[in-house]
Amino acid sequence: MSITPLMPVYPRCDTRPVEGDGVYLIGENGKRYLDFASGIAVNLLGHSHDGLIKAIQEQAAKLMHVSNLYGSPQGEALAQRLVDLTFADTVFFTNSGAESVECAIKTARRYHHVGGNPHKKDIITFNNAFHGRTMATISAANSPKMHDGFEPLLPGFKYCEFNDADAAAALIDDNTAGFLVEPVQGEGGIRPATQEFMTRLEGLAAENDLMLVLDEVQCGMGRTGTIFAHEQYGIEPDIVASAKGIGGGFPLGACLATEKAARGMVIGTHGSTYGGNPLAMAAGEAVLDAITAPGFLDHVTAMGERLRTSLEQMIGNHPDKFESVRGMGLMLGVKMKPEFESRAFVNWMREGVGLLAVAAGDNVMRVLPPLVIEEEHIQEFVQKLSKAADEFEG
Ligand SMILES: *Cc1c(COP(=O)(O)O)cnc(C)c1O
Repeated sequence: MSITPLMPVYPRCDTRPVEGDGVYLIGENGKRYLDFASGIAVNLLGHSHDGLIKAIQEQAAKLMHVSNLYGSPQGEALAQRLVDLTFADTVFFTNSGAESVECAIKTARRYHHVGGNPHKKDIITFNNAFHGRTMATISAANSPKMHDGFEPLLPGFKYCEFNDADAAAALIDDNTAGFLVEPVQGEGGIRPATQEFMTRLEGLAAENDLMLVLDEVQCGMGRTGTIFAHEQYGIEPDIVASAKGIGGGFPLGACLATEKAARGMVIGTHGSTYGGNPLAMAAGEAVLDAITAPGFLDHVTAMGERLRTSLEQMIGNHPDKFESVRGMGLMLGVKMKPEFESRAFVNWMREGVGLLAVAAGDNVMRVLPPLVIEEEHIQEFVQKLSKAADEFEG
């Protein structure tokens, strides 16, 4: 037998973390890595955060799981906090990003179904998007690589150029249910939507009675300096998918919706065995405690500006390798020159200088530190990145 016990779907690297310590990971070999990847925008409180550990330990000892057939004081409490903090009136808890997007798609379709428009099923999505790996979420993304061998895809998605509102308007017809878009594309290479694009999508949705569905799985939960990135665009979505940072490392996701958007999501229409169980709710509460603490989001904005400025200075010294910095808050991307592949650079940096970042589409290196970093970590990151750029030969 040559297949590995772990299904070999990931190109796993030689770095094998076994312990976390704040913004550092520690490998099997004892080596320390500065973690500016955060498990891909997940560990927003870093590793081994006291509040998160305590919340999970205490809840695990008290009650880990009960069925959604029973009343959920834990779920009600966290949903109420999210409702109070955001555009939403109601929340469905999931265990992952893809499940949150699935719930968002189902909610958008049901909205029209119960509104007497059962033909309105099509969702307009955008090139270079990433929405997850389930059948519906790969179908939602225009990526031949993710589709290959998994056809037939789920029908009902129309692909459009990102940041092109005219093209999106031209795709609307009588069967359109809504838009699904990442305010800041993550996997696609840290591409923020333009203000004009988001404002126009909001307008088109309102004029045509379409659902504006945002995928904030990566850009939400404080990552860009506000609870959700869409707040900075001054727009009001109908439905938002959240996950990644929301559990700080515990598998948790959420689909948030307005009362109007969720009008079709009545008893029996959706469910999840684990979704919103007391242990997950305890993790979610601890994360929300941290990110809603006075000054936390201001800290994210300040550190984001600091990191961006430092990266811009650093790339000025390496114009042969780096092109530009983009993104919002602590969701930043460094675009590399075509001769230098971001994936190869990120791979080399890990063992070369002990730095963790994540490659993304469009030859971008993603910089997604825990939101609790301090200036000293930014200095260490930029110093080591500069050293890596000096030593990396491509
Ligand atoms: C990671 C991600 C997903 C999928 O999340 P999973 O938890 O892996 O299912 C969906 N959308 C976006 C924008 C993501 O970054």
